[in-house]
Amino acid sequence: MAYRSVCKTLVNLHGGATFVQMRHLSTSNKLNNSYRAVVVGGGAGGLAMASMLGSKFGKSQVAVVEPSDNHYYQPMWTMVGGGLKTFDQSARMTKDIFPSNATWIQDAAVKFDPDNNTVYTKDGKELKYDLLIVAMGLQLRFEQVKGLQEAIANDPMVCSNYSAETVMKTFPALQKLESGNAIFTFPNTPIKCAGAPQKIMYLAEHYFSKHGKRDKINIIYNSSLPVIFGVKKYANELLKIIEERNITVNFRHSLSEVNHEKKEAVFVKLDSENQETVNFNYDFLHVSPPMGSPDVLKNSPIAAENGFLAVHKETGQHTKYPNIFGIGDCTDIPTAKTAAAVAAQSGVLNRTIEAVLAGREPQKLYDGYTSCPLVVGYDKCILAEFDFNAQPLETFPFDQGKKRTSMYYLKKDMMPEFYWKGLIKGKWEGPGVFRKILHLGMGK
Ligand SMILES: Cc1cc2nc3c(=O)[nH]c(=O)nc-3n(C[C@H](O)[C@H](O)[C@H](O)COP(=O)(O)OP(=O)(O)OC[C@H]3O[C@@H](n4cnc5c(N)ncnc54)[C@H](O)[C@@H]3O)c2cc1C
Repeated sequence: MAYRSVCKTLVNLHGGATFVQMRHLSTSNKLNNSYRAVVVGGGAGGLAMASMLGSKFGKSQVAVVEPSDNHYYQPMWTMVGGGLKTFDQSARMTKDIFPSNATWIQDAAVKFDPDNNTVYTKDGKELKYDLLIVAMGLQLRFEQVKGLQEAIANDPMVCSNYSAETVMKTFPALQKLESGNAIFTFPNTPIKCAGAPQKIMYLAEHYFSKHGKRDKINIIYNSSLPVIFGVKKYANELLKIIEERNITVNFRHSLSEVNHEKKEAVFVKLDSENQETVNFNYDFLHVSPPMGSPDVLKNSPIAAENGFLAVHKETGQHTKYPNIFGIGDCTDIPTAKTAAAVAAQSGVLNRTIEAVLAGREPQKLYDGYTSCPLVVGYDKCILAEFDFNAQPLETFPFDQGKKRTSMYYLKKDMMPEFYWKGLIKGKWEGPGVFRKILHLGMGK
């Protein structure tokens, strides 16, 4: 038995949003490719939502379009780059962790046709849906920096924690470096985990110190941003660490070219009148590449002007198509793009969908909760947690602005468990409940 939902009423929501009251008509399912819910992307957000929807609708009615054989716990890549975890510890076969209550379509979405409730795939499938959840993550854009792909392919000292293909280069390069300039970059685009470009720098600095070569290495952080971190409380602490450890920071410097034969990295000075460039010699270069919305999404009718999925930031519902929803990095929700944000969004989105199906206004609203465990050495971490307004939203009843060993072990050993056993199984909606309990019900 299959069901076809019919949009019955359009109702005005807060902020001018609309949602549909769905009526489910029992029909026979003549089309094999017709589902109550299609989820595009089987990463953190896609699997969390597939697990939740699968328990409502059943395996045959929830399809996840995901091309990759492997699923990665990407937050572990900082630790892989620092030599604290192996790459294999960050990876699982998709088939081994895929929710048992959903159907995996191993394919890639190539076109969205929201007016006909259809997603087209690379292999030529036409998937019909009542509800569409878009969870495609970000597309890495190494090619936007001239010479970078060649440098990564040919120079063992050019690396990046940001992709499965490049993260394994980082630790060997740290081990190999004996002297000279170690440069770390932050691109001029939105990125996932905006703390990651500097976390690996603190690990590297600690590594060089432990191995007696720190005084022969200049550590340079060239960032497109005008600040070290977007939340003042944590930025202040990071700036202290940077000063203590004699790290050079150049703000508003965006990597535009790498010439690996000359060992040169070219940066555009973003605030200069004529976009002047400045060359740095590198001996080690960790690149956080430009990133953006996946092309398939960017060029579709469901994208906002900036290319990301256009959703209401507090509910995850699309701004134009009420049966489309989004979660995670591919949305235009204005908060830091992290798995922690995905966890909090998953709980809200699940309730948004329930409300929409019941013809109610969504009651549970997303506050922008996101988190960045800022690993600042081999045994210390500042656990940044904040909301849409870049205001701290801390779980623990102590000052999380201070670097702590406890937070380091939370990041290193416990968070992977929350991910594998909680988030992707639709059972971890972030620490909101614990925050309330630990603050005796008096926090947000
Ligand atoms: C180095 C690094 C460090 C990080 N550190 C942290 C951290 O400490 N804490 C934290 O919370 N977060 C961290 N993150 C960020 C976190 O990993 C992401 O924010 C999170 O994975 C986003 O989930 P998502 O579902 O939006 O996207 P993803 O998990 O990236 O999943 C997107 C999925 O969509 C699929 N897809 C893409 N295109 C298509 C298509 N056309 N059709 C179908 N499927 C498609 C992809 O194959 C992928 O499986 C880090 C990330 C990196 C890289």
